[in-house]
Amino acid sequence: MTTHPVSPNTVLANALHHAEDVLTPRILATPPERIVLVVGTQINGVPHIGTSLVQSLAFAMAARLRDRFGLPTEVLFSALDNAPYELATDPASGNRYQRAYAQALGEQALLDLVTALYQPLFTALSRCLGIPHHIETYTQQQAGEHYRRAWLRLLPRVDAARWWLAPSTGTPHLRIPCPHPGCGWAEKHAERTRVRLTGPESAVVSAVCIHHGPYEAPITPTAGAYLDLATLYRNLVKELALTSPNSTLHVMVKGGDWVFGSHLVDEALQAVGLKRTQLPARLFCPQVVTDTGAKLSKSLVREGRAPLPEGAAPWMLGTRQWPGTVTEYADQLLAMAETLLSDPRHFFRSYSAAEIGRMIIAPSTRSVPSR
Ligand SMILES: [Zn+2]
Repeated sequence: MTTHPVSPNTVLANALHHAEDVLTPRILATPPERIVLVVGTQINGVPHIGTSLVQSLAFAMAARLRDRFGLPTEVLFSALDNAPYELATDPASGNRYQRAYAQALGEQALLDLVTALYQPLFTALSRCLGIPHHIETYTQQQAGEHYRRAWLRLLPRVDAARWWLAPSTGTPHLRIPCPHPGCGWAEKHAERTRVRLTGPESAVVSAVCIHHGPYEAPITPTAGAYLDLATLYRNLVKELALTSPNSTLHVMVKGGDWVFGSHLVDEALQAVGLKRTQLPARLFCPQVVTDTGAKLSKSLVREGRAPLPEGAAPWMLGTRQWPGTVTEYADQLLAMAETLLSDPRHFFRSYSAAEIGRMIIAPSTRSVPSR
């Protein structure tokens, strides 16, 4: 039993009868044959409640869109393995270097990590709602021909978007890990990374390794090095790659903190030639915040820079500590999703960790009488 929150009216909530109506104009303007809800997560550690909330809302929204518009819907989960795993400073240049999860762990260990941390919940959510899903690591995504071709075709036009992608410097970062066996370090801020077009659909990236000095890496649509891009740049390429006339509407599902950054991606997409109707649809989900109103951050708590918020249970920061089964967790998340989606006022807002705790009743506390 989920307790209902009390939510104030807002401009957006006041304009809608149902939360999913926010996507109706896009669906009516260009009626798709299917809808794919795309949800991405940095896989740097155990997921926290904010991650689970966005993921379960993607499934719940997919089910509502399917029922409302009679369209097949599915969820695509993008497991971002390009987060830094370790950092170093080059004593000679003073430049920062990073080694991403993909290079530090290797592909099999990454797949094992995703299978252990995410697959069980996705399988449970899929089963509950009858919504199919696919899981893709960033390693797989960037190796795909669609993605690489989108980047290669963007290169001659990227100047038009660079100030949207990096408003403070005008230089969106691109990282190619050192190809030396067992290395994989890359310049964090890409100071000495250069891209040279060598053909209509081929390029060579040169950079300098902290251990092995200068190197070059060719990139073609079907081969070449791991292509790591700064966040907004990566989103631009990802969304360009999704723009194909195959009657699929992609809905990018994000946490509410993305509201502030997404318009830069939208402007970048338009700067490189996309029309407004070609942009992907976006759905911003409620954010889980602390009592100060800041986003609940696992790393800030772990580093001791922020306290565990009042009313937050340990499983909220590491969902593996959830005291019940994955099925129970999925059921609780979907019950909460149902509540959040029951009124636009409940959906287009943030929630404190304590309020989430009141709405999700963990198994061990379920039988304890409330005081
Ligand atoms: Zn190296």
